[in-house]
Amino acid sequence: MKKVAIIGAGVAGMTAAKYLLAKGYEVDIYESRNHIGGRCYSFVDGESGDMMDNGQHLFSGAYEEFFSLLRWLGTEHLLSNTGNINVDFVDSASHFAYKLDCTYPNNILGLLFGLWRMEGIGYMDKLRANSMLLHLLRGINGEDYSVSELFRRLGVSDIAIKRLWKPLCVSIMNAPIEYASAKLFLATLKRIISSGEMSLQNAIVPLQSLFDGFEVKIANAGSRLHLKSAVTSIDVIDNRCCSIVVNGENIAVDRVISTLPARNLTKLHPIFAEYKEWSSSPILSVYIWCDGALFDKQSICSIGTNIEWVFNCSKMQSGMSSKHLYSITMSAANDAMPLSDVELMRVIVAELRQITRITDVVIGRYKILREQNATPLLTYMNEIRRPSVRSSLSNFYFAGDWTATNLPATIESAAVSGRLVVETMDYLASFPQAKVST
Ligand SMILES: Cc1cc2nc3c(=O)[nH]c(=O)nc-3n(C[C@H](O)[C@H](O)[C@H](O)COP(=O)(O)OP(=O)(O)OC[C@H]3O[C@@H](n4cnc5c(N)ncnc54)[C@H](O)[C@@H]3O)c2cc1C
Repeated sequence: MKKVAIIGAGVAGMTAAKYLLAKGYEVDIYESRNHIGGRCYSFVDGESGDMMDNGQHLFSGAYEEFFSLLRWLGTEHLLSNTGNINVDFVDSASHFAYKLDCTYPNNILGLLFGLWRMEGIGYMDKLRANSMLLHLLRGINGEDYSVSELFRRLGVSDIAIKRLWKPLCVSIMNAPIEYASAKLFLATLKRIISSGEMSLQNAIVPLQSLFDGFEVKIANAGSRLHLKSAVTSIDVIDNRCCSIVVNGENIAVDRVISTLPARNLTKLHPIFAEYKEWSSSPILSVYIWCDGALFDKQSICSIGTNIEWVFNCSKMQSGMSSKHLYSITMSAANDAMPLSDVELMRVIVAELRQITRITDVVIGRYKILREQNATPLLTYMNEIRRPSVRSSLSNFYFAGDWTATNLPATIESAAVSGRLVVETMDYLASFPQAKVST
C-alpha cells in the first residue's frame, strides 16, 4: 500500500488526509500538540467551565473546500448559516452607525443592492464598488501591488476606504492595507461573487468540536494519528527525505507532506532555510465577561479603533453558561500586541464606551489571547514568494495556508492546499521515474 506521512494536523493536514484516504493511501499524521485543529482550537475556561476558542473564527460561504472537510467529518450542521452578509458598523469617532445589509435578495444581487443601500459612503463610491465587483466577474485579476494602491488607482475616496474597504480588507487578509496583496484581495472578492455565496458563518459550538470524528475516520481507514509527536528534523539522502525524526525516533518514510507554517518548517532541515524570512501577522482576542448587555446584535465592526470586531458570544454559540460574554478581535494588531494587560484593558474599556455608548456595564473578568503568529503576512511581495506544492526534495511536499493557493492565509487556503498537495503528489506518483528539478 502507498504510504504518506503528514506533518501537522491542522486544517491543511486533515484535508490532505481526507483526500489521501479516498485515493487508497495509508496515512500517518504526526501532530506536536495533544489536539488536532492547529490554529483553530478551543480550551476550557477554568472559572466558567465553558469551552472557548483561541479567537473568533468566521467562514465565508465561499469556503467550499473547508465545508467539504466538515461534510466528510459530519459536522457541517454545526455552522450558523444566517443567509447573506448583514454587518453592523459603528464609526466610533462620530458614533455613526450603519449597515451593510445584503440579505435581500439572497444571491449576488443582494451584495450589489446592499452596497447601494449602505449609508455613510457616497454614490460615486457605491458606483465604483459595484463596477469593480462586476469587472471582477469578467475576469480582471489585478497585478500585484498593495490594496491601498489598488484603491488609489480606482479613485476610491478616503471615507469609503475608512468605512468599508479597510475593515473588509483587514478582516480578510489580517494585514494593513498598505502591505496587503491587491491580487489576493481581488481573488477573494471574485471567489465570493462567482460562488454566489454571500454568507458569513461561524461555529455554533467550540471550534474544536468541528473536528470531532477525525480520529475515528483515520482509525477506521487503517491509518494513524499520532498526537504529542513533534517532527524535529528530517534525514535527506540523494535528494530524498528518507526518514523523519519523531520524539527522538527515526521513522522511515515513502512520501512526506509538511503542513507546517514557514517558521516551523525551517527547523526541520537547512534546505528550508530560504523560508526563514517569512514573517507573521498577529491577532489579539479578548474575552470579557460583563454584568449586563453591551448590545443585542450578533456583532459590531468598529471603525477608527484598535478594536475591530466585538462579538456577542452568548448569542453566537449555543450552550454557553455565561450570559453576557463578548469577544473582541484586533486583526493585524501590531500596535496593541506590546501593551501590558492593564494598558490593553484601559484601551478596550475606553473604546467599548465609544462604540456602544454604554458606561454603566462592568467588566467582571477578562481573558487576553495574543496569537503572535496568527497568519503569515501575505504582503504583495510575499504573495509572489509563496511556495507551490513541490519542494526541492523528490518525495517531500508542502501544504498549509501560506503556500501558493491564490487565497489569503485563511482556513480555506489551508483546506485548498490540502487538496492541491494530494492531487499533485498522486499525479507524480503515477510516474515512478519522474525526477524533480530544483
Ligand atoms: C486568532 C485567530 C483567528 C483567526 N480567524 C480566522 C477566521 O476568522 N477565518 C479564517 O479563515 N481564518 C482565520 N484564522 C487563520 C486560520 O486559523 C489558519 O489560516 C488555519 O487554521 C491554518 O491551518 P494550517 O493547517 O495551514 O496550519 P496550522 O493550523 O498551523 O497547522 C499546523 C499544525 O502543525 C503542528 N505542528 C507544528 N510544528 C510541528 C512539528 N514540528 N511536528 C508536528 N506537528 C507540528 C501544529 O501544532 C499545527 O497543529 C485565524 C487564526 C487565528 C490564530
